[in-house]
Amino acid sequence: MLNVTHATKAYGNHTILNQVSFSLNSGQIVALAGPSGSGKSTLLRCIQNLEKLDEGTIAHKGTTGFVFQDFQLFPHLTVLDNVAYALRVTKKQTASDALEKAKATLKLLGLKTAYYKMPHQLSGGQRQRAAIARALVLEPDLLLCDEPTSGLDGLSGKNVAELFLTLKNQGVTMLIASHDLDFVSAVADRIIVLNDAAVLKDFMIDAKIQGQLSWDKLLN
Ligand code: ADP
Repeated sequence: MLNVTHATKAYGNHTILNQVSFSLNSGQIVALAGPSGSGKSTLLRCIQNLEKLDEGTIAHKGTTGFVFQDFQLFPHLTVLDNVAYALRVTKKQTASDALEKAKATLKLLGLKTAYYKMPHQLSGGQRQRAAIARALVLEPDLLLCDEPTSGLDGLSGKNVAELFLTLKNQGVTMLIASHDLDFVSAVADRIIVLNDAAVLKDFMIDAKIQGQLSWDKLLN
């Protein structure tokens, strides 16, 4: 469903991505892991077409949704309006259809009591789920998620992991940039390790590997 071929990008003379290639199959959760500064966000942003590659191609069937690391919820809108807004603007839905669908999505993500709250009134975990709801309400074929557990406590991180596994069972394909190996090992079917602007490792995570991931092993 997604083919990244020889993706190459530099900022000035700093190469961020150097001939990165991989394909994604639908229905999987794939972790894009790597140290801070290894180009994970840049790659996600290029896939979402928020930035352009210098060289190489990114081809995908269907639509993508993007969950930003800092959520980027509109601070002056309620949680419900944040989610409905995406539908009204992107899908040109009527206000009442958009509100109904937004409510259903928020309910699915356990945010029924947060419809009329403002983003600043939510916990970090709730904000993360609201940002996921805003992307999911558009029913993307591929959900791109940047560091979904950064800034969350352990319990909220576990809840986000459970949510992603539920979404996977509902058929959502996910590419998740993360340097949280506990989280990656709990959710991912496959890990692509970026280091020094290139793919260093790319393998499936089976039961044997789960719980044994360490940066030491991944980067050596
Ligand atoms: P990661 O998500 O793995 O932490 P990023 O993709 O955010 O990595 O960043 C990779 C490198 O690119 C970092 O060194 C960062 O400072 C640099 N970078 C990211 N965005 C820009 C930009 N808009 N202009 C210049 N440098 C950037």
